[in-house]
Amino acid sequence: MKDILYLVIPCYNEEEVLPVTAEKLKQVMEDLINKGIICGEKSRILFVNDGSKDRTWEMIKGLHEKNSLYSGLCLAKNRGHQNALLAGLLEARSYADVIISLDADLQDDIHAIEKMMEKYDEGFDIVYGVRSSRKKDTWFKRNTALGFYRFMKVLGVDIVYNHADYRLMSRRAVDGLAEFKEVNLFLRGLVPLIGYSSTTVEYERKERFAGESKYPLKKMLSFAFDGITSFSVKPIRFICALGVFIFSVSIIMLIYFLLIYWMGKTVVGWATIVISIWAIGGLQLLAIGIIGEYIGKVYLEVKRRPRYLVAEWLNKEDSKQIKQEKNPVSDRKECRDGNGTETRDDT
Ligand code: UDP
Ligand code: MG
Repeated sequence: MKDILYLVIPCYNEEEVLPVTAEKLKQVMEDLINKGIICGEKSRILFVNDGSKDRTWEMIKGLHEKNSLYSGLCLAKNRGHQNALLAGLLEARSYADVIISLDADLQDDIHAIEKMMEKYDEGFDIVYGVRSSRKKDTWFKRNTALGFYRFMKVLGVDIVYNHADYRLMSRRAVDGLAEFKEVNLFLRGLVPLIGYSSTTVEYERKERFAGESKYPLKKMLSFAFDGITSFSVKPIRFICALGVFIFSVSIIMLIYFLLIYWMGKTVVGWATIVISIWAIGGLQLLAIGIIGEYIGKVYLEVKRRPRYLVAEWLNKEDSKQIKQEKNPVSDRKECRDGNGTETRDDT
């Protein structure tokens, strides 16, 4: 049973890690080919250059020249990790039966690739790579991540605990993902929405072996905020509930002060009133801010900007396979006849 596997690796200024990463991934691919798990001629390691400012793209081109196992996709400009990953998935799906996405720094254990393929052969369409522990993370990153997952659960967002973007997806799962047209991408929230059968594979996350993280605190926070606001309307409902509560309290206060007034007692405590005005003013501003956040998203969605524009597409194989129509599960195995011979139409 030979599947065409594509590894999709988004790369932004990764010249320091690329040679090592390319070599290690080649070994993994050759191992899978030798074991007869994947198709040797058509499987690829696809590097997506996300508008790097260093020599990343030149290096990818060099790799492609030397060995057709490597292919490359160059985005017209830097669009961020999530868009680069989506670009790789959507472009690769025309060629691949199954796609695994991972980061260029190989923090995610590449030995899990074979385990993922085993799960795929068992019939799973999506296999999530899940970190078995976060020992290598800093105390801060570990705890903020934990808080984030818990908060998302409270908000009713279905995300896989301790899973980043290391995952296997069958072609039909990627076809499903392509139907989600939103611009504010948070893939780990979107993929569970696709459905199909899914499972997890555990691995130990390592430290980045060279170069530096492209996710500084500021980017991490804005990514988390995007995740929350793209998937849940609970914050806005909370603000509404708070508004109702505060309004009710103010009515009760009004009745209470009127009663005191009619009983002939002077109303004292102007400070309380002034403080209340300030508190409510602040809450209103907060509410408007959050509503504005959602309106901003609607604005971006209706503009329907392209998520990426491809400048170049390197792949030595020129026959683009005709995509299968979306068929039931059984058809997923159509290209494999059990003897390792390809049966899919290659026109
Ligand atoms: N990346 C990208 N575009 C960006 C930022 C990052 O394609 O604008 C890629 C980067 O090259 C890497 C992956 O996204 O392959 C994850 O980035 P990084 O390892 O820096 O994130 P961290 O592991 O520190 O969260
Ligand atoms: Mg990393």
